[in-house]
Amino acid sequence: MTAAFSNGQPAEDLHHIFFGRGRRKISDDHNLVIPLTVEEHQKAHGPKAREHAEKYCEYMGIDFDKTLLAINSLTNPLKKRDAKKYLNGLTIKMAVKLKSLELDSKYNT
Ligand SMILES: [Zn+2]
Repeated sequence: MTAAFSNGQPAEDLHHIFFGRGRRKISDDHNLVIPLTVEEHQKAHGPKAREHAEKYCEYMGIDFDKTLLAINSLTNPLKKRDAKKYLNGLTIKMAVKLKSLELDSKYNT
């Protein structure tokens, strides 16, 4: 799979765009991941983690603020249902985008 920000270099890591405080599992459940090089992955967990997460969401075509709000709303009984619906909508969208990155690297080698 091609790394998202590496000029066609292969991805070595799959980064969970939302992590910490139980978010890693939610990222897993909804394909909220992005292929990165090791170098880019280190930046993703550095002091500018949020800026990087915003950039990754933009690249993957999802709204950072809405997605974070939905993740944070999963524990709210009144908002849980809508949050799940929103996140379930992203699951397929992310799978399609990840597949396209996979195909890009297959045909650009
Ligand atoms: Zn990571």
